[in-house]
Amino acid sequence: MVKLVFLGPPGAGKGTQASLIAEFYHVPHISTGDILRSNVAEESPLGIQAKEYMDKGDLVPDELILDMVQKRLENPDAQNGWILDGFPRTVTQAEEFVKKLLSTSTNENETETGKAKISNSFQVINLQVPDDILVARLLSRGRQDDNEETIKNRLQVYYQQTEPLIEFYEASQQLITVDGNHAIDAVTDSLKQAVDQLS
Ligand code: AMP
Repeated sequence: MVKLVFLGPPGAGKGTQASLIAEFYHVPHISTGDILRSNVAEESPLGIQAKEYMDKGDLVPDELILDMVQKRLENPDAQNGWILDGFPRTVTQAEEFVKKLLSTSTNENETETGKAKISNSFQVINLQVPDDILVARLLSRGRQDDNEETIKNRLQVYYQQTEPLIEFYEASQQLITVDGNHAIDAVTDSLKQAVDQLS
């Protein structure tokens, strides 16, 4: 069963690669950024709350994200694997993910006593790309939050709040680092190799 978290700075290619890998292994691609953007477009209560953070390139508060991901993981299509893209993004999200979300949403992780056994039930792909390449990629993408000032803030937010997850997942031996500074096809091939080695 393919259960992967895609970690990496903005512009590393997480979205592109997560989508290709999800299609290849027939699991849903769950992008918190995409879910948030559709909420913003619909002007849902979550979207209205999230918009101010997203426009600045700041992170949306953990409670909102955790509720949103919990609901998405309860969906029937997520019962046999998933690719998470852009979540967890803080140590709090990573801790709550394991404590609450995985234990309630994924039956096959339950032991006979009903307690969740969750430690190594998913792997984390760390897509590595140098900063100058990230900025160039983001500037050429043209998304609403891809202007120079917001990009600077998003990179800073990444290094402050998300990068600590690398050590966090290294410590639990869940981390697989893949060089994302190659052509799309080459990175996809490396990712498939990494995933196939897991099974
Ligand atoms: P992304 O498409 O992953 O780059 O996300 C776009 C924006 O959505 C980010 O800059 C954040 O404002 C917000 N966002 C996405 N995922 C998360 C998350 N896990 N935690 C907090 N904010 C998030």
